[in-house]
Amino acid sequence: MHYPEPISKLIEGFMKLPGIGPKTAGRLAFYVLSMKEDDVLDLAKSLVNAKRNLQYCSVCSNITDHDPCRICQDKQRDRSVICIVQDPKDVIAMERTKEYDGLYHVLHGAISPMDGIGPEDIKIPDLLKRLQDDEVQEIILATNPTIEGEATSMYISKLVKPFELKVTRIAHGLPVGGDLEYADEVTLSKALEGRREL
Ligand SMILES: [Zn+2]
Repeated sequence: MHYPEPISKLIEGFMKLPGIGPKTAGRLAFYVLSMKEDDVLDLAKSLVNAKRNLQYCSVCSNITDHDPCRICQDKQRDRSVICIVQDPKDVIAMERTKEYDGLYHVLHGAISPMDGIGPEDIKIPDLLKRLQDDEVQEIILATNPTIEGEATSMYISKLVKPFELKVTRIAHGLPVGGDLEYADEVTLSKALEGRREL
């Protein structure tokens, strides 16, 4: 049996999202049909607004609706430390710990020769530009504890040698192979506290 076209379009749309197969997509599509029209409109508007109004911060590459982002603009934060993460979601995870009040740099990925991703493909050149600034004294490498995350941290730590900064790597208490964004606040706070110098 074929669905009417508006439904099959909606199902196809949901299937483009990560982790959603045909079954879940079908369930979501039929759920949308059962929702109140106002709620559906709100949802549709939020989707479009999120896409239209968010951009990457020109300094740290985090997702923001203001450029530079609120964290980069915040004069209360410690501007001598930059915490380097792979993903905007990792910034949220770090902020949840309430232990860190420095700045961030979001790489948008990790070096992965297997997937053809080199240093130039993630925000490493932008990081180097930021490090020219004398204000920066420490970088904290908070990439994921995966092979790619480790390789990226090692690469950066070698690359920044000429800047004579303190370079630390967050401690392992984090599950190996895991993603930073899924670590709970306590584990992440401890990992930050126990960072070691590279
Ligand atoms: Zn920023």
